[in-house]
Amino acid sequence: MEQTSTTTEHNIESVKFEDNNGVDGGNEQKIKDIFQDGEVYESPTDLNVTKTIPVENVPPLKWVNFELLPKKMKITNSGYTVILSAKWGQERPYITGGTLSGKYVFSQLHLHWGVNDMEGSEHTVDGCHHPGEMHVVTFKSCYLTQESALKETDGVAILVYLFKLQDEAHKGFSIITDALSGIAQAHTSMKIEPVDLNQLIKQFWTDYFMYKGSVSTSDCVHHITWMITRYPMAVSAEQIDSLRYLMDDSDELIKRNFRTIIPRDDRRIFHVLPSKSKYSTMLPLSDYDKVITQIYRMELELNSNPLYVLQGEKDLIRQKLIQMKKSEEYRNDENVNKKPVKYVKIMEVIKKYINNLF
Ligand SMILES: [Zn+2]
Repeated sequence: MEQTSTTTEHNIESVKFEDNNGVDGGNEQKIKDIFQDGEVYESPTDLNVTKTIPVENVPPLKWVNFELLPKKMKITNSGYTVILSAKWGQERPYITGGTLSGKYVFSQLHLHWGVNDMEGSEHTVDGCHHPGEMHVVTFKSCYLTQESALKETDGVAILVYLFKLQDEAHKGFSIITDALSGIAQAHTSMKIEPVDLNQLIKQFWTDYFMYKGSVSTSDCVHHITWMITRYPMAVSAEQIDSLRYLMDDSDELIKRNFRTIIPRDDRRIFHVLPSKSKYSTMLPLSDYDKVITQIYRMELELNSNPLYVLQGEKDLIRQKLIQMKKSEEYRNDENVNKKPVKYVKIMEVIKKYINNLF
């Protein structure tokens, strides 16, 4: 496998494999050198498409056995999150290809959320949270178990789906959300009617972000390969809300289970097989969503500490409001009824701002 990369000491600007057959052809070491080695910073972090390293000519991700119906499926309230796990016969779903070397078999999927729809995702996009995030955990099959894979630097890969809101419930996702009342208490689990993972997980082959990021637990540090699809998973506000009734170890509601963003520093975030229209394709928030999110967050901060908003920030909000006014047509278009509740709510927020600040 030939590979060209524009390199300045620690900095790779792009990676281009000349011959994508080479990746399948056993050139594991080169993939390892570029994608697995190097300094690993803690996850999660912010994603910004302009600060990624494009990777061209690697094979697309391959999804195998995701159509297989499991023999058993269950959901568990771990006291921190809800986990969906399943048992298959001999064949299990796995992913391979892309920047991975080897097969990564499905282990479980779990969710992250917050107290309202303006937070909840672990990763942020251009500084903004999404209402939640689904993690599909896979481990490299040669390590046999997830536990032993976690001890390796290339043992675990997590596929990340950021949530976005839509009016209709996500049909596959309701397999989980409809059953939550049965596992409200921490450390309870429940069998559910098995479905194939394609009902829940949308496959992606290209146009995703990839980085190595560590996760620290009380006694050790695990290295995770994070793979984030640019296409968010559309679920309803009610579905996300149903997660907020799960309870933790002390019988309190699990309000927030996302970790703090770690600054990107000079970590490498790759953009694997970027789509041609990479600057126009939505990574996930539109400008309009961003403005709403920022204003809403400032409002939360203002409510918790009125002294927090300084003159500079007021100016910033003023600018945002002017931008919002410019996008008035967007709000008033004929599809307004199809927009999520937040588009309606935002008008109240703006009014409050105008009264309070100006
Ligand atoms: Zn997670």
